[in-house]
Amino acid sequence: MEAHSEREHSIWSPSSSGPNMECAGRIALIEHVAPKRSSSFAAAWGTAAHEVAEWCFKNNGEPESFPFSALDIDGFKIPIDDEVRETAGEFVSYVRQRLREYRDEIKCGEDGEASPSFFSERKYYGGKLGLPLPVAGTADGTLVFPAWELVEVIDLKGGEGVVVEAAGNRQARTYGTLAKSDGVAPAHYSLQNTIVQPRAPHTEGSVRSERLTADEQNAWAREFKAAVVRAKRALDEFDPTSAEWAQRHLKAGKHCKFCPVAGVCRAQADKALAIAQTRFEDLDRPASLPSPAALSPAEIGYVLSNEALLTQFLKDCKARAAELINKGERVASPDGEFKLFPKKGNRTWIGGKENIPALLAMETGLPRDAFLSAPAPLTPAAVEKTLKRKKIAADIVSAYIDRPVTGKELALVVNRAEEPAKATIELFADLG
Ligand code: SF4
Repeated sequence: MEAHSEREHSIWSPSSSGPNMECAGRIALIEHVAPKRSSSFAAAWGTAAHEVAEWCFKNNGEPESFPFSALDIDGFKIPIDDEVRETAGEFVSYVRQRLREYRDEIKCGEDGEASPSFFSERKYYGGKLGLPLPVAGTADGTLVFPAWELVEVIDLKGGEGVVVEAAGNRQARTYGTLAKSDGVAPAHYSLQNTIVQPRAPHTEGSVRSERLTADEQNAWAREFKAAVVRAKRALDEFDPTSAEWAQRHLKAGKHCKFCPVAGVCRAQADKALAIAQTRFEDLDRPASLPSPAALSPAEIGYVLSNEALLTQFLKDCKARAAELINKGERVASPDGEFKLFPKKGNRTWIGGKENIPALLAMETGLPRDAFLSAPAPLTPAAVEKTLKRKKIAADIVSAYIDRPVTGKELALVVNRAEEPAKATIELFADLG
């Protein structure tokens, strides 16, 4: 089978329908300036669950019988453990349960006219929609129920952090719209979009659906097509030097959260700065923010409701600064210049903590028990406190501890000192 992770992506994938429909210029910006994105462990984990489910459907098997103990996906080795199998299993069980429900009600045979169909991992293109950009996506599961005049598109979500709703879900609606356009079911069938998300808590449980009549689905398909037309126009007119292009085609908002160009997008920056009411028009003067006491309750509410956007904006700026510095460019402000410094991790005992009490007892003449601070953990800080209490120079612990470098952190080297002083910006440190 074609590995889930190896499938080609079109310019417009159903998973990006939400932000693409909000921001017409997003695709143009991504096509021209997006940094290449590397996969994440979480994404690879989700892919593994999909591959287990697909194997079950193809082999009429159960997740427990999946023959591999691990899968190599996008550079990650994903163990096929109970959690992966259970996630896939919920999806497989749901599909089988739906088929059973239908057959019990309709009393149809295996392949009569009214028999249901199921397609696992079918790719749809929406060819008859006449879309001006290549749009395509692979739906995890598609069920067609002739007697119910219903097509159901099912999306398995492996994530546990972001709860995905079925109601109004543009990704799911895109799959359904492309599928119907490709003739998987007659045009007058209703569309049911179902999300199966076993690992995230939801009041409706791990499976939820939305149902659209054919008319509702057609109305949404028109909105969708209009958005694709807008995106194509933005792509055709793309001019990275034109503020007018950005103003006409970019629209920042909550949908910027996972945008791959968020770090370089002017519209997102402008919106975040406007929300903060920051006055950055003169880059040689310090920025200022209004005092919250001077804001109305509505303004306070507005700022707070955009917390995610502002936080993301700062994170993206920090990532972009690191990228620029790594390329040899300067990132400076009137206060100084930003540089990357080795980021130190927590202090750890060299060779493990087991022998530390005996070694320190030998060195200080204190009993070994003085360093067995149970139930508190035997940390360098706890030992230093003990030594301080006993009036022994605490720096003797330094011979026994290591502080590994765990990455790089951005810091401001301020201008005024003769010897560069390093002052990590606290705002950024919190975002780490
Ligand atoms: S960051 Fe926001 S405004 Fe900018 S391209 Fe992405 S979605 Fe559009």
